[in-house]
Amino acid sequence: MSELRVRFAPSPTGYLHVGGARTALFNWLLAKNKGGTFILRIEDTDVERSTKESVDAILEGMKWLGLEWDEGPFYQSDYFPLYKEHVQKLLDSGKAYKCYCASEELDTKRNLAMQEGRKPKYDGTCRERAEQPDGQPYVVRFRAPQGGVTAFDDLIKGTITFPNEELDDLIIQRTDGTPTYNFCVVIDDASMRITTVIRGDDHVNNTPRQIQLYEALGFPVPQFAHVPMILGSDKARLSKRHGATSVIAYRDMGYLPEALLNYLVRLGWSNGDDEIFSREEMVQKFDIGNVGRSASVFNTEKLNWLNAHYIKNGDPERLADLLLPHLSVREVTTLNGPDLMVVVRTLQERAQTLEEMAERAVFYYNAPLSYDEVALAKFDKELLLSVFSAVMEKLSKVSEADVSGIDALFKEVCNENGWKMGQVGQPVRIALSGGTQAPGIGEIVVTLGIEETIRRIQAAREFVAGK
Ligand code: GLU
Repeated sequence: MSELRVRFAPSPTGYLHVGGARTALFNWLLAKNKGGTFILRIEDTDVERSTKESVDAILEGMKWLGLEWDEGPFYQSDYFPLYKEHVQKLLDSGKAYKCYCASEELDTKRNLAMQEGRKPKYDGTCRERAEQPDGQPYVVRFRAPQGGVTAFDDLIKGTITFPNEELDDLIIQRTDGTPTYNFCVVIDDASMRITTVIRGDDHVNNTPRQIQLYEALGFPVPQFAHVPMILGSDKARLSKRHGATSVIAYRDMGYLPEALLNYLVRLGWSNGDDEIFSREEMVQKFDIGNVGRSASVFNTEKLNWLNAHYIKNGDPERLADLLLPHLSVREVTTLNGPDLMVVVRTLQERAQTLEEMAERAVFYYNAPLSYDEVALAKFDKELLLSVFSAVMEKLSKVSEADVSGIDALFKEVCNENGWKMGQVGQPVRIALSGGTQAPGIGEIVVTLGIEETIRRIQAAREFVAGK
């Protein structure tokens, strides 16, 4: 194992967002690529907004994507004593101070600064306070360096420099004694010996403050890589407004984890013009330095294309297992029908999602209750009746069916009666499936079995005859 240690640090205030999943993926890939360690840390110090359901949803999403972590999950809420200890350390060394300013007072000063067009910044009233008022509530502030700059070489964005005068004396502990977000992150990343912090670029502004804290505490500063945002098609930050953003919602819509991972890895990262990456290839080729600097736009069509690719090339047995929940929401039971694996084989060529596949699989298990009448109306009634009779007649003589045998049988029916394939295949397809969107006729007949096929053609014939 190399020394590389990375972490994914979600706040459990909702489900696992695709943006978060991509951050997790980049961390995971870097760890796997370098033989490092991938750590999962749940940032649940915001007790009001953090929920157990959200933790479960995040873990479920990570597991579904196969982003296994090597250490954790660690929960920030278990480390309050550690944060307190470090606050005290900074107080003792004079690198932090107690601030007694009342919040109303600070609000007034902030408003005034804004009115006067100044940057609202803590004015340092308590910075040099000699007297410590007894028993009064206080926050603890970090004594931030006043002059100079704080800079870092971001692995994605290049050098980023912040003038220190723009950075406030950050509150590291609130009046109620709880530590604040930026402080906890630093203590955690340091104590977990994180070497590379990969996170969304909405955290860029936190980084100089965190670097100052590392330095004040005497911890080595990790490397940073800030990943650009994912946008919706209108170039606004991807949100529910644009459609599903939760990883689990994609699972439920019938996407395969390998398709979503492949989609996410290409959202910002590239390796030449390659589009298809197996998990192993991603691991082998991933380089955080090849992540682009600009934001990426979420493109559902491309995701669908990848999903179709993975469905088409997927193992039918595994796809059958994954398809089951999509069938059971449709109240379809596969017990008294064809082997689901065989059904999958007939559908995987053309389905974009498992939902679509499930929708198309229903007819194999439930004989049609109605027919696409518009499609049927394209054929003359007498022709339909003769076609159905001729096909049933032929099929009744067949004992064992294979696809090429059935295809040949249909050709024979056409030749003997002077019909075109479209005049025979399409009506039979409607008879068997109710519609026209079904696999090849030979495949359907073989999958349904001769007996069931004849039963369905008979039912369709009665329907047409009764019209
Ligand atoms: N908890 C933060 C978030 O969910 C991540 C912080 C970090 O990665 O440093 O946005």
